[in-house]
Amino acid sequence: MEYVVGALIHQLRTIDPGEIRLVQITLPEEVEIAGKLYAIRDTMRPGTAFLAKPWGARTGKYRRRMYTRSNTSFNEPRLLETFINFTHRDQSDTSSWWQSEMATEWFEKGKTVEVRLQLDGDEEGVLVYENTKVCKATNLRLEDDGMWEGMRMVCVAFGTGITPFLSYARYLQANNFGRKEGRGGAHLTLVTSVRHEGQLMLHEEMVALEQQFPEHFRYQPVLTRSWPTAWEYSKGRIQRVISSVSGKAQIDISPLQTIVPNLTQSHLRICGSITACQQLTLGLEQGGLVPLSVRAESW
Ligand SMILES: Cc1cc2nc3c(=O)[nH]c(=O)nc-3n(C[C@H](O)[C@H](O)[C@H](O)COP(=O)(O)OP(=O)(O)OC[C@H]3O[C@@H](n4cnc5c(N)ncnc54)[C@H](O)[C@@H]3O)c2cc1C
Repeated sequence: MEYVVGALIHQLRTIDPGEIRLVQITLPEEVEIAGKLYAIRDTMRPGTAFLAKPWGARTGKYRRRMYTRSNTSFNEPRLLETFINFTHRDQSDTSSWWQSEMATEWFEKGKTVEVRLQLDGDEEGVLVYENTKVCKATNLRLEDDGMWEGMRMVCVAFGTGITPFLSYARYLQANNFGRKEGRGGAHLTLVTSVRHEGQLMLHEEMVALEQQFPEHFRYQPVLTRSWPTAWEYSKGRIQRVISSVSGKAQIDISPLQTIVPNLTQSHLRICGSITACQQLTLGLEQGGLVPLSVRAESW
């Protein structure tokens, strides 16, 4: 049995027209299931995804889709924030709908989108469903409290693949980066690659976070296609595909290494399209680079 609740589209903000939108969905405090009222508890871990049922522009029906949360249940319970991009795939359905006028209308008219819930173990309440409860190499659920505080992480995001890392950054900030008496705390480098400046997500917030916690947070936005004259960060792709005579692709990740020279002393986290993530891991392999750990999620 799957439980869902109608959630209000609280905010729908265009980042790059037709390409990327910020979406915030608010869940009610309670839900009625089989005549009984349950409080909705939000314990989603940074790096996990929620499941919503938006409209499919191509199929003309509601579809089940997963979205990684970019804020945290710790700071903003029951407010689910994410960034959704248009995938440009022939089969694209909901990703194009989210960019459409129809979605804007739903937002303006206060229409709801269903979000999946799950019964709490003791069945006394319901939880916001999260896609995974365990940390694996193929997901980005943040390590347990008590563990991440000692880690040096390099998070590489392609496009909306920044969502899990925005959640990490906000969670670490809310927890003072794990700094306590006698304990140095965590370090996070966020490398985020987008095509042009207009696609940057929460850029000002990340710049401010770096200024607030210079010993714990480093922000490196990269623009791959075009950039303003005075752009002070990196330009061009962080990994380059070099076709070889044998036809086997060689991936040059030296631009990424220039930004982050200490990859092998870091826990590497990667998120974005399947191609981008595979190229980066292949580039590491071909260059004989072995980070302390690698975890990646691609959509
Ligand atoms: C854990 C997780 C987290 C995610 N987080 C985000 C996020 O934060 N932001 C974001 O923008 N997206 C995210 N996604 C991706 C998102 O869920 C959608 O898949 C994406 O937005 C594309 O949706 P779509 O409906 O347009 O197309 P799709 O989901 O790609 O596909 C549409 C339909 O076409 C079918 N289809 C696709 N390809 C083919 C094919 N070759 N042949 C036949 N049928 C095909 C699919 O089965 C589906 O029914 C996440 C996905 C996962 C799994």
